[in-house]
Amino acid sequence: MRDNEFTKILGWPGYRVYRHEIDEAAKTLRLWVRRKRGNRKLICSGCGRKFSEAHDYNEREVRDLPWGEYRTTVIVEVYRACCPNCGIRVEKVPQLPSKAPFSKRFEEALGQACESAAVRQVARQFRLAASTVRAIDLRYLKRWSATRRKDGLEQMGVDEIYFGKQMKFITVVSNLETGEPLWFGQDRKQETLDEFFRTQLSGTQRKHIAAACVDMWRPFTNSIAHWAPNCRIVYDKFHILQHANKAIDEVRRAEFFRKGGRMRGVVKGKRWLLLTRWMNLDSRKRQQLNDLFALNRRVMKAYLLKESLERLWTYRYEGAMVRYLQSWIDQLRWQRLPPFQRLAQMLADHLDGILNYCRTKVRFGVVEAINGNIKTLLRRGRGYKNLAYLLLKAQRMAVTKTEFIVLQKAA
Ligand SMILES: [Zn+2]
Repeated sequence: MRDNEFTKILGWPGYRVYRHEIDEAAKTLRLWVRRKRGNRKLICSGCGRKFSEAHDYNEREVRDLPWGEYRTTVIVEVYRACCPNCGIRVEKVPQLPSKAPFSKRFEEALGQACESAAVRQVARQFRLAASTVRAIDLRYLKRWSATRRKDGLEQMGVDEIYFGKQMKFITVVSNLETGEPLWFGQDRKQETLDEFFRTQLSGTQRKHIAAACVDMWRPFTNSIAHWAPNCRIVYDKFHILQHANKAIDEVRRAEFFRKGGRMRGVVKGKRWLLLTRWMNLDSRKRQQLNDLFALNRRVMKAYLLKESLERLWTYRYEGAMVRYLQSWIDQLRWQRLPPFQRLAQMLADHLDGILNYCRTKVRFGVVEAINGNIKTLLRRGRGYKNLAYLLLKAQRMAVTKTEFIVLQKAA
C-alpha cells in the first residue's frame, strides 16, 4: 500500500501520511502525517488569529481509532506561531483537542462507549487505565456541553439525593421542561440552594422562573421564596406519595409488633406488596394481600388510604381538589392510624402548594426520572468524587434517555 492510500483511509482532513510502520507481531500501526500542500495557514490556539509563517514545529504522537486488529498511533507535525497577542503559541489542530495523547475522534469513540458501559469495561476494551478513560470521558462531555444552547429556566425541580455516608446529601436542581439536571450542590440546606440562585442565574433569569416542583422541605421553599419572587411552589406528587408509603410502612411495622404469634407470620415480609400499587400486582399477589387484609383491618385501611390519595391529582379545579382532600382526611376519623394522621396534618399545612398544581401545571415524574438516572450512574460508576463530572454525565443521559424512562413509568 502506498502512502496516499494510507492518507485516504486515515481520513484526517488537511493531512497526509508520509511514512508508516507496521509491526505484525505487536499488531501496531504507526503513521507519520504532515500538512497537505493546500493547508498551510496556521491558527493560533490562544486567539484564533491566522498565520502563514511558522516559528518552529514539534512532533506529537497520539492514539487514533484502530485499523482492524491494529492499534494505531499517528505522529503529527505541530507548528508554533509567533502571535502578537499570545506570544509563541502552538497552532490549533482540530484532531488534537487537548494535551493528552489521543486524537479527538478516539476520545469521541471512548466517550460514546462510556454512555452505555461502565468505565471499567471501556478501560478493559481499549486497554487503558480506568482513570485515563474517566479523564477522556470528562473532556468529551465538556466539549459537548460547550457547544450546547442553554435554555431559559421557567419551571424548575429541586430534589435531594443521598450520596452515602461520606458525602451525605446533595441538592439537585433541574429544568422540568427539558428534563435535565442543571446544578448539583453539596448538602441540602437553605444556603445550598441559595448558592444556585446566586451563582447560576442573573436577576432577570430568577424573575423568569414561574414554578418549582419540590418536596415539602422547608429549607428549599424558603430559598425559593427569597430568590425567585414570581415562582409558584408546587409540591411534587411523587414525593407526597412517598410520604404515604412511609406511613403505610409504619402501620405495617406497628401491627407486626402489636400482634403476637400467628399474625406476625402474616404481616411479616409483606412490605413490598404493600408498597406496590394494586394495578401492578398479578392475581396471586392480590390474593396474598387479600389474605393479609382479612386478618388485619388496620393494614387494609392504610393500604386503601394510600391508593386513594393518588386521585387527588386528577382534579383540575381547586374547589374539587380541596373537597376530595377533605373527604380523604375525614376517612381517618376513628381509624387509629397515627402515621396517616401525621400525613394528613402535613398535607393540610402545605395545602397551598398542593393546590398550586391546579394553577400551574408542571410535569411530575421528571424529578423522579432524573433522580433515577443519577442513581443508575452512581451504581455503575462506583462513586463519583467529581460532582461536575457526574452532572455532565447525568445531563448527557437526560438528553439521550430521560423521555424513555418517563414513558416507562407512566405505562
Ligand atoms: Zn494568539
